[in-house]
Amino acid sequence: MRAVLPVLLALLLAVPGSSKGDSDYETLAVDLLQRYLQIDTTVPPGNEMRGALFFKEVLEREGIAVEIDEFAPGRANLLATLPGSGKRRPLILANHMDVVPADPARWKMPPFSGARQDGTIWGRGAEDMKAEGILQLLAMVRAKREGLALERDLLFLATADEEVGFAGALRALGPEGWRSRLEKAEFLITEGGENILDDKGQPVYFGVATGEKGPFWLTLKTTGTPGHGSRPIADSALNRLVRALDRVREHRTGLKVLPSVGRFFRDQAARVGEPRASWYRDLPRAIQDEKVARTLYDDREVSALLRNTVSITVVKAGYKTNVIPGTAEAELDVRLLPGEDPQAFLAELHSVIDDPSVEIVPPADFRRPNASSPDSDLFRAIERVLARHYPGVPVTTTMLAGATESVLYRPLGISAYGFTPLLTTSAEIATAHGDDERIQEATVRRSVGVFYDVVREVATAAPAGAPAARPRAR
Ligand SMILES: [Zn+2]
Repeated sequence: MRAVLPVLLALLLAVPGSSKGDSDYETLAVDLLQRYLQIDTTVPPGNEMRGALFFKEVLEREGIAVEIDEFAPGRANLLATLPGSGKRRPLILANHMDVVPADPARWKMPPFSGARQDGTIWGRGAEDMKAEGILQLLAMVRAKREGLALERDLLFLATADEEVGFAGALRALGPEGWRSRLEKAEFLITEGGENILDDKGQPVYFGVATGEKGPFWLTLKTTGTPGHGSRPIADSALNRLVRALDRVREHRTGLKVLPSVGRFFRDQAARVGEPRASWYRDLPRAIQDEKVARTLYDDREVSALLRNTVSITVVKAGYKTNVIPGTAEAELDVRLLPGEDPQAFLAELHSVIDDPSVEIVPPADFRRPNASSPDSDLFRAIERVLARHYPGVPVTTTMLAGATESVLYRPLGISAYGFTPLLTTSAEIATAHGDDERIQEATVRRSVGVFYDVVREVATAAPAGAPAARPRAR
C-alpha cells in the first residue's frame, strides 16, 4: 500500500501550473497527510527539521519560495511566501509540526503509520495539528497553481516546540527570526477551532477560537515552627496553609461576560430548553439576577467561560505522623480570562487569604491572555464560506481554556483565530494527546476546498455581490 504512494505523489506533483479539479487536490491532501503522519516529530526531542524538509519538498516543487531556520540541532521553523500585490496586509497560515509522545503499546495502529483504513486516517498529530497543516499547505499549492490575484502576501509558517515551550514561535518572532515580516500581518489562522458532530454525524456548530484564557499557576508557601505532634502549634506552617486554602476554596470569583463569550451563548440558545435559552440570549442581563448567577456559577462548563478560575491541585507538607512540619506549600491552577491583569488577581488573592505570612509565588513566565475581535474581514469570510458549504450550521466564537501560539501574535496587532473546517466527533477530538489519534478521511477531503475558499476570499478582492464590510449587527 505504502509503496505505491511515492509514485502517485510524483504524478500529482508533476504538473505545477495546471489547474486541477477539487478531487485531485483532495487526493493529494490525503496522500500528503499520510506521509506527514509517518514523520516522527515527537517533542521532546522534536526533530521538526524532518517536517520542515517534507514541506520544503512539496512547496519548492510548486515553485514557492521557502526558508528554513534550524535554530537548534534538528529543530527548525519553515516560512514559505506567496507574494501578493501588497494592497492589504499579509495573512499567516500557522501550524506547529511537533506532536506529543505516543505509547505504541496502547494504540491499535502504530502511532507513526499514517495508516488509512475504512475511511479513517491514523497517526499522532491527525487531530493536533498535522491535518490542519496539510489544509494550509494545500491552500498554498492551489493558490500558486491557480495563479490567484493575491492582494496580500500569503505566509505559510510551520513551527517547532508548540507542545512544550513555544520555542519555535518565539524564535520566529524574535530578532533572529522573521519578526519584521510576520508583524506586518493583519490575520493569522492556526489551531483552536472546534467543530463538533452530533451522534447523527451532523455538524452542531463551527467554533472559531477568538480568545483564550491564560494559565497563571501559583504556589502558596508557609513556614513556621516545627514541633512534636503531641503538642499542637496553632499557627504551624501547615495549619496556616490549610486555612489559606479554605479561604481560596470558599472564594467566588466574579462573573464577567466577554463579547465573544456572550455571542457563543447567544448562538447556543436555540439548542437548550427554557429557562436557559432566555438567559443565554442575553447573558450580561441574566447574571444580574443572583439566582441565575449562582446556577451558572455552579455549572462547571459554563462557569469556566465566565470567570477566572482557581483549582487547588497540589499540596505538599509533612513526612511523619508525629512531626509538625516547618514548611508547607500548595499549587493552584489559576486560569485568567482574556484582558485580565495578573497583578490585580494577585492582589485579590492576597486579600482573600488575608494572612501576610502566606507567600504567593507567581509563575516565572506568564503571557497575558488575549482575544481578537470577530469583527473582521477574515471572520466574515469564514462565515460566508461556511454558509455556502454548510447552510444553516451556525458559526460561533469560542474561548479556549489554554494557550495556543495565537497569544504571541495578538499583541502585535494581528487578528489571530483558531479555525479549521475539519469536523470531528467528541470521541475523535479526545484522541488528540490521547491514544489512537485519528481523523475521518471524508472530513479531510471535504475541508480542502472549504479552507481554500476562505483563504481565497480574504486574500483576493471581495467577490462580486459580497456585502461590504460592516460591523456585525447582532
Ligand atoms: Zn496543537
